[in-house]
Amino acid sequence: MGAAIQKKVRQFSATYLIKTVSECFEKIPDHRPNKCVIPFANFPKSAFAMMHQKCDSLLAFDEERLDKVCCHNLEKLYHVKDGMVPSDTRMREVLDPVDPSGHKTPFKKLLNIVQRNGALKGFEFKCGKLKDYYLLPVDGTGLFYSGTCRCNDCCIMNEGKKNEAYYHNIMGGCIVHPNQKTVLPLAPEAICKQDGTKKMIVKKRLFDVFWPR
Ligand SMILES: [Zn+2]
Repeated sequence: MGAAIQKKVRQFSATYLIKTVSECFEKIPDHRPNKCVIPFANFPKSAFAMMHQKCDSLLAFDEERLDKVCCHNLEKLYHVKDGMVPSDTRMREVLDPVDPSGHKTPFKKLLNIVQRNGALKGFEFKCGKLKDYYLLPVDGTGLFYSGTCRCNDCCIMNEGKKNEAYYHNIMGGCIVHPNQKTVLPLAPEAICKQDGTKKMIVKKRLFDVFWPR
């Protein structure tokens, strides 16, 4: 059994991991045509903080961002520059057009840290003839559904019928081990409709895309 994820290892501390994720957000190109007051990276950083802090909703986070202490904490903990947290509307406007592939990098970086520190060894699964395998349960989930709003990449349900609807699903997977309390999530992959087909497919195999090389 290899090493588990131990918090005493500096690179496994929340501070280091959050900093790693923040640095990945800094590298996502700003698609806005004009120079804006709020730096672009503040948008994904704020969204990440909202999810990490398990806020009840985007609206609840939006109300909290007006609190000076909250802004200070977001600056210190999540590297939101100058505590400038965008409103929920601006967050949607700025983040919606961003290519989601840029958000896969943090998953790779975090898994690299686990691998570099030898902790991935603790996830090797041996059972009977199976040796040096990893367990990777995968599951699909829905993240958008609408009877009216759609984008070009939307999957379509009941196409051509009165109740036509649009949706997005993703496939997610985590490396797990029965003896480990921690799970290692890999970047989710969009389940999308290929051009000219009605069949839903996962674009690429999770391991092909996200395994650290
Ligand atoms: Zn869509």
